Amino acid sequence: MSDSKSLLAELKTRLLEINDLEMSASLLNWDQSTYMPNGGAGARGRQLSTLVKLAQEKFIDPAVGKLLDALRPYEESLPYDHDDASLIRVTRNDYEHAIKVPPQFLVEFNTHSTDSYQVWAEARPKNDFNKVRPYLEKTLDLSRQYANFFPGYDHIADPLIDLSDKDMKAESIRKLFGELRAELVPIVKKITEQPPADDSFLRVTYPEAKQLAFGEKIVRQLGYDFNRGRIDKTHHPFMTKFSLTDVRITTRVKENYLGEALFSNMHEAGHAMYEQGINLEYEGTPLAGGTSSGVHESQSRTWENLVGRSCPFWEYAFPLIQDEFPEQLKNVSMEQFYKGVNKVEKSLIRTDADEVTYNLHVMLRFDLELRMLEGNLEVKDLPAAWNERFNSDFGFTPPTDGNGVMQDVHWYAGFIGGAFQGYTLGNILSAQYYQTALGAVPNIPDQVRRGDFSPLHQWLTENLYRHGRKFTANELTRRVTGGELAIAPYIRYLRGKYGELYSL
Ligand code: ZN
Repeated sequence: MSDSKSLLAELKTRLLEINDLEMSASLLNWDQSTYMPNGGAGARGRQLSTLVKLAQEKFIDPAVGKLLDALRPYEESLPYDHDDASLIRVTRNDYEHAIKVPPQFLVEFNTHSTDSYQVWAEARPKNDFNKVRPYLEKTLDLSRQYANFFPGYDHIADPLIDLSDKDMKAESIRKLFGELRAELVPIVKKITEQPPADDSFLRVTYPEAKQLAFGEKIVRQLGYDFNRGRIDKTHHPFMTKFSLTDVRITTRVKENYLGEALFSNMHEAGHAMYEQGINLEYEGTPLAGGTSSGVHESQSRTWENLVGRSCPFWEYAFPLIQDEFPEQLKNVSMEQFYKGVNKVEKSLIRTDADEVTYNLHVMLRFDLELRMLEGNLEVKDLPAAWNERFNSDFGFTPPTDGNGVMQDVHWYAGFIGGAFQGYTLGNILSAQYYQTALGAVPNIPDQVRRGDFSPLHQWLTENLYRHGRKFTANELTRRVTGGELAIAPYIRYLRGKYGELYSL
């Protein structure tokens, strides 16, 4: 056993170095998206590829494989959920995955993605799909190549989905989304037949400095730890971390729309609180991260929507925000505000969509991804396919490709496949976990009404956050809820909340 301890120590030393390289790359990325002057772009791109390449080389070193082999008896002598056993298991999964992808492929793909992103950024405002088309065709080709490094899949999208939502399969997600869609479409129809909620008071002038101050105050109260984090401005908000004790979020303020920074702050703080809640013993190892994009998104959605757009929350926070913006909100009641921040409408842009219509945007992308990968949809026919599906779901055609097929960065800076399902899986899981939390701590809504978020935060930390990547999403869901991923709690949540708001 003492031999195992020294082998494990050696593995951890190697993993720590790899982690240091990766976290340094994250810091460079964060800087690039916040403070870096434009002139830094060229050198920054090169520095990032150097770090990523070094980390990759160190990880796929056969010595890592040998250590993992030598540690197998030790792993098998321990319970499945033991920290050491989990570290060895998760590292082995990552390792066996990483060695199947030739380093040369990654270099080619990263170079292509950088080019593709630049072309997209210029072509999108001009609605010029023809400009991005050859890049997208190559992306599709490279995405297929990537999938084929993992022969034996059921669906060609599976290896791509595996990258962010391990253990999830295209066919089971397609079935789940089909069930969800069948429930959602009639709800959306009934709501959007009614006159839209008034949210005009959110769209008057709200000075940036005050929005930033209020956003910071709210996420501090939710439980985001500023001793281990900070907020900076960026173009597209995101969460990133450099260690478990430095987890940062970014924000974007629109002076003519109060909802933008407010809800994106709560969203990113949700991601960050997940990372800040991970067991500190896992620092510097592959266990120190969220377990899947779906579970990660479930936590951003919990704090943004289940808490941040709930009635109890605004019973607490409306007087605070009215204090902060007395002129803008002087003739607005708490009830009007609550309705305004939960306005449902068939809108063009996924990232601006409300809770009810949001998943229709995601499913559209997921289905088109699968069709492209299957060879049933060519890139040249993508804009038409997008518009047709959009029209059937939303009742109108996007006026331009920039606000249609070109609106999201994902396909233009990454693989086609695996990029979108996590958003809807996150919504589904958020309701499932939250329902379990309410079962265990029934007075969470009363506590939220008093501005006390710690009971919910503690429950989530204890049951979800602290585990990091120790369990896969499916294992975690079973442990937390006692069942499998299911849409019923989410549908119940939407029916309950929006049934009341729109008297359905
Ligand atoms: Zn998110």
